[in-house]
Amino acid sequence: MHDYDAVVIGAGLGGLSAAAILAKNGLKTLVCENTERVGGCCSSFEEGGYTFDIGASIVELAWVIDELFEKLGKKTSDYIDFIPIDPIYGFMTADGKRFSYPVDKDATRDVIAKFSREDAEAWDKFSKQGSEAINFAFGKVMTKPMMTFTDSLKLSLENPKLMKYLKYMVLNFESTLCSFFSSDKVRASMSLQSYFIGLPPALCPGYIAFLAYSEHEGIFYPRGGMIEIPKGIARVFEEYGGEISFKTRVDKVLVENGKAIGVKLSDGREIRSRIVVSNINAKTLYLEKIGRENLPGWAVKAIESYEVSIPAPMIMLGLDTAPELDAHHTFCYTTLDEMNRVWFEDYLSKKIPSRGFMLISWPTHADPSLAPEGHHCLNLVTFAPYELSEGDWDSIKEQYLEMQLDSMEKMFGLKLKDHITTAKVSTPKDFEKALLHPRGAVYGLQNDIVATAFFRPRMRSRAVKNLYLTGASTHFGGGVAPTIGSGIAASGLILEDL
Ligand SMILES: Cc1cc2nc3c(=O)[nH]c(=O)nc-3n(C[C@H](O)[C@H](O)[C@H](O)COP(=O)(O)OP(=O)(O)OC[C@H]3O[C@@H](n4cnc5c(N)ncnc54)[C@H](O)[C@@H]3O)c2cc1C
Repeated sequence: MHDYDAVVIGAGLGGLSAAAILAKNGLKTLVCENTERVGGCCSSFEEGGYTFDIGASIVELAWVIDELFEKLGKKTSDYIDFIPIDPIYGFMTADGKRFSYPVDKDATRDVIAKFSREDAEAWDKFSKQGSEAINFAFGKVMTKPMMTFTDSLKLSLENPKLMKYLKYMVLNFESTLCSFFSSDKVRASMSLQSYFIGLPPALCPGYIAFLAYSEHEGIFYPRGGMIEIPKGIARVFEEYGGEISFKTRVDKVLVENGKAIGVKLSDGREIRSRIVVSNINAKTLYLEKIGRENLPGWAVKAIESYEVSIPAPMIMLGLDTAPELDAHHTFCYTTLDEMNRVWFEDYLSKKIPSRGFMLISWPTHADPSLAPEGHHCLNLVTFAPYELSEGDWDSIKEQYLEMQLDSMEKMFGLKLKDHITTAKVSTPKDFEKALLHPRGAVYGLQNDIVATAFFRPRMRSRAVKNLYLTGASTHFGGGVAPTIGSGIAASGLILEDL
């Protein structure tokens, strides 16, 4: 006897998207979520009158969300109020320069022309190729399963443009960017995106470089905070009869004769289901929730071979005034070489990068209702190792906050200290504890070229029958749109199989 048709572990975007489609198709579906809220990395919480985002701060490739709501027979705008963001980034460089890239491509060309006429012309070529790469090649596979070489071949035959851009799967981010642009300033201004999948420009796959174009097709912030996206999906899920059980931790996936038959919760209860859908880190799923004893040897070796992605410590600030910034997102940076250096010299030596770069997100720029009148929220995000060569995260929180605020002031002239009413540091250890992400990993598994597309853990498990995977650990990797895409793709496989 089954209690449910489907049990989903985790109410992140991948899990909720899959769950909503399953419920719409008549499957009795339960989502078990360890925390008290939906969204995982794409969520928000309130403190002292401020609404802070936990992780994601912007939506790119919003058409994936529309595709999900269409599949659910609903209209996105009835559930989520997206505010268009313009400019895309404000930039602050260590030599005191400030500029911004607007959404408008021609206006961006004018900004680039101030640094290099050659690069302004290259921008047109980059935009044209970026549009093709995103809309007709990589974008087309974001909501489709890609589990085998045959899958990728089939998708390539359906989208011949994919073939044209396959070289960018092999080239790295840095060489892709440098093949278009020659000015150091322009190269550096488009280098942040490599860290959007958790890798420096020298190690990140080349196709990610086109994100710097895709943002010019529109980026959005949901009114009310990032949690409004998962909340909107959860509302549809519940309208179709789906159930979400909060503060419910799954400790084991029950496996019998190589088949998933349900889950065991931390309070000892067992829930039986026809299928199990995992929205958690794939390494945790296989090695802890299923256990080596239930896996063939090759599966243990395969899953052990993946690295988990980088952690990203965050500083959340409540301010009594508007910060001296120009945009929802500000990228504070030095050079492209420095973006690589912080990885190879600092990160790999377990040191907190003391200089380098920072992404500042200013959500109250788009939605003032997230803070008391006249006040503002600011999130400062960079990356740093989980283990430190000196000290540990719990004991250096205050020091980390001071160091980053000092560095913002000294390097980029951004004075914040006198206006802080609330300050909260979320370290990699906090992130691990809160969301059960191993080693504070923010994007599931590291997304280097050998862990991309069909090299990533499959959405339909080969090692355990009736087990499906969604979220950042599977194809297309981390990000709001990709993980929603994974939910669409995985639910398609489930409906096909059932
Ligand atoms: C700091 C940061 C900034 C980011 N910025 C952006 C951005 O601006 N734009 C963008 O597109 N993307 C961004 N991302 C990435 C994006 O937010 C994530 O890739 C995406 O939200 C992950 O979705 P997911 O489906 O993998 O689920 P997750 O968000 O990983 O959710 C998994 C859920 O499972 C739950 N869970 C874990 N273990 C258990 C268990 N045993 N039992 C029950 N529940 C469990 C967790 O509590 C969590 O709710 C950012 C991420 C971070 C961390």
